[in-house]
Amino acid sequence: MADQAQPETTFRRVMLKISGEALMGDQGFGLHPPTVERIAREVKSVHDMGVEICMVIGGGNIFRGLQGSAQGMERTTADYMGMLATVMNALAMQSALEGLGIHTRVISAITMNEVAEPYIRRRAVRHLEKKRVCIFAAGTGNPYFTTDTAATLRASEMNCEAIFKGTKVDGVYDKDPMKCDDAVRYDRVSYDDVLQKNLKVMDASAIALARDNNLPIIVFSLDEPGGFRGILAGKGTYTTVHG
Ligand code: UDP
Repeated sequence: MADQAQPETTFRRVMLKISGEALMGDQGFGLHPPTVERIAREVKSVHDMGVEICMVIGGGNIFRGLQGSAQGMERTTADYMGMLATVMNALAMQSALEGLGIHTRVISAITMNEVAEPYIRRRAVRHLEKKRVCIFAAGTGNPYFTTDTAATLRASEMNCEAIFKGTKVDGVYDKDPMKCDDAVRYDRVSYDDVLQKNLKVMDASAIALARDNNLPIIVFSLDEPGGFRGILAGKGTYTTVHG
């Protein structure tokens, strides 16, 4: 029988940003396939609600440009290596999602036609309309940026209603909740407060871009089973960064 109830979520198209480290599980490095699959299941549960999903995955579990340059590597080369790391993570996530029966496209900001589609905005929009999950890989394609900025850029281009930033904690705190017992979580916090108080949400360029495009950022815990779906349905704890 058709479900006559209200839809479970008001969101139609969202961006999910996760760091590369979210895919490494308890290992100190690289990819942990069971963890990748666990996150893919979280994505599937939201896809099953009919929500169109964009994803950006970082590369910090494999390589970060800043670390490479601190060790004497030329910065732009190191950044390109970081961008290539995000492609590996995107392919791992694609494989896990397709294993769950979700059609997925990896769309790379650096052309590598054998492994991923090039980024063509209208084509990506079409994939989303056909309910394919789009994983945007290789960051912005430019050195000196981060995947947080890439997520904000693609979310703006794809007209996403919000960026969901999956982290290890259930929101934005006034100090590091892993280190300070008296850390207080914000329910809502403005872009300007994030910038002025230097709260650890995303880097400043990503926050400024989200602010300029009035794109809310919802910070939530990716470790909470069912958390992503719950938050799309308006349940659970999270912080909204807004205008
Ligand atoms: N990177 C880049 N340009 C971009 C996105 C990423 O140069 O537009 C490089 C940068 O070196 C960065 C690395 O890719 O350190 C991995 O991305 P990020 O640090 O954002 O990954 P995360 O911390 O989210 O795992």
